[in-house]
Amino acid sequence: MSALPAQSDLQAAILARRNWAVERLGAWVRHGSVLGQELQAQEYIADVYEEIGFSSRFETIDIDAISKLPGYSPVDWSYHNRPNVVGFHDPPSSKGRSLILNGHVDVVSPEPSSLWTSDPFGPRVVKEEEDGETWMYGRGAADMKGGSMCYLWALAALGDMGYTPASKVILQSPIEEECTGNGALALCANGYTADACLIPEPFAESILRRQVGVMWFDVRIVGKTTHVLGTGAGVNAIEKSWVIIQALRELEVETNDPDRVPDSYKDIEHPINLNVGIITGGDWASTVAGECVTRFRFGLFPGESLSDLKNRIEKRVREAAAVDSWLKDFPPTVNYVGFQAEGCEFDVSGDFGKALRQAHGNWRGSEPVELTATCTTDVRFFNLYYDIPSTCYGPKSRNIHGVDEKVSIDSMQRVTEVMSSFIGDWCGLEKRG
Ligand SMILES: [Zn+2]
Repeated sequence: MSALPAQSDLQAAILARRNWAVERLGAWVRHGSVLGQELQAQEYIADVYEEIGFSSRFETIDIDAISKLPGYSPVDWSYHNRPNVVGFHDPPSSKGRSLILNGHVDVVSPEPSSLWTSDPFGPRVVKEEEDGETWMYGRGAADMKGGSMCYLWALAALGDMGYTPASKVILQSPIEEECTGNGALALCANGYTADACLIPEPFAESILRRQVGVMWFDVRIVGKTTHVLGTGAGVNAIEKSWVIIQALRELEVETNDPDRVPDSYKDIEHPINLNVGIITGGDWASTVAGECVTRFRFGLFPGESLSDLKNRIEKRVREAAAVDSWLKDFPPTVNYVGFQAEGCEFDVSGDFGKALRQAHGNWRGSEPVELTATCTTDVRFFNLYYDIPSTCYGPKSRNIHGVDEKVSIDSMQRVTEVMSSFIGDWCGLEKRG
C-alpha cells in the first residue's frame, strides 16, 4: 500500500474537481426521484459510478425475500422498475478494510412547488451574502444527493492523483430511505456488506451518535353519509377525525414528558414528534363525508420497541373512541404502512468512529460535533441487523423536506476533504503504475 498523499495535494486535487462535482450534482437533481420515479436518477448515477472507474449493477427489490426480515416496513405499492444501484471497486488482492458508501436516491415531494423561489428540480447555484458560502438550491440537492456526491468527488480526486482504494469499496444508491428503508434492507440482505458504512446525510459536518425510531400508521374513520339536506342525520368522518388527532396530540405530550425522556435526549427540545401528514376524506362538497383516513408519523427513542408504541397508539385511539357518541359504536381502525423503524445508537469510539473523527480533526483542527437526531436514517439496518458500524457525516444544509432546500457546496468540499483522508486511512491506497 502507498503512503497517504499530502493534505495540500489532496486539497488541490479536490478543488480541481469542484466544477465537475457541481455539474454532476445539478444533473442528478434534475432527475426528480420522488417515490416511484427513481429510475432515471438511478441510471444517471450508475453512469457516474462507471465514470470514476467503478462497475455498476442494478438490483431489483424482491419483497417476498425481505418481508420477514427484521427492519422490514410494510408497503402498499409496487417495486416494479424501481431498482437499487450498486457500484463496485474490488481489487484482486484486497488489503485494507472494506467500506460501504451509501446515499439514498429518493427525495420527498417538493409540493407545494409554487412556493419555491424557482423550480425545485431546476437546480440553481447562488453565493449567499449572509454567510459568504455558495449553495445549490433544489429538492434532493441536500437530502441527500449532495452528500453522495461528496464520496464520488473524493474518489474522483484520488483517482486524478493516481490512487485507488486498496480494499473493496461498495457504493450504494438505495431507494425508499424516506418512507421504509426497504432499499437499504434489500442491499444488506443480498450480501452487500463490509467492515463499515458511511452515509453522508446533510447533518452539517457532525457525526451521528444516535437517532430516533419512526413509525407510520393511518387511522380510518367511517361516518354516515347523507345529503346536506339531512345533515342532522349524518355523521361527518372528517370532523370525527379531529377527535383522534387531538387524542394522539395528548399522547405526544406525554411521550415528551421530561420524566420519561432518556438522558441522551434530555438536551433536545421536543424529541418525539407526531406529524399529521395526509388527510383524505369525503368526495363531494354537498355530501356529509362518509370516510376519512389520516396518515400519521410518530417517533420513538432508541431501545424502545415498536410493538410497545403500537400498543400505546391503539390504546389511545380506543380510549378516545369509547367516550365519543358515534365512534364508540363505529371504532376507528389503525393500519401500518411505511416506516416501522427502530431507534439506534452508534459507538463513536470504535475503530470506524475513531478513524472518521481523526480525519475530521486533521482537516478542521477540532473534534466533530456529535449529533443526537430526531429523525431516522438508513444507518439502523447496518448497525442493528448486520453488525456493520455505520454513521452519518455529511454537508451543511437548509430546509430539507421544505421549500427552497439547499446544500452548501463549500461544506460539500470540506466533507470531501475529510472523506478522502478517511478513505485513504480506512481502505488504504494503491498507486496506479
Ligand atoms: Zn436523507
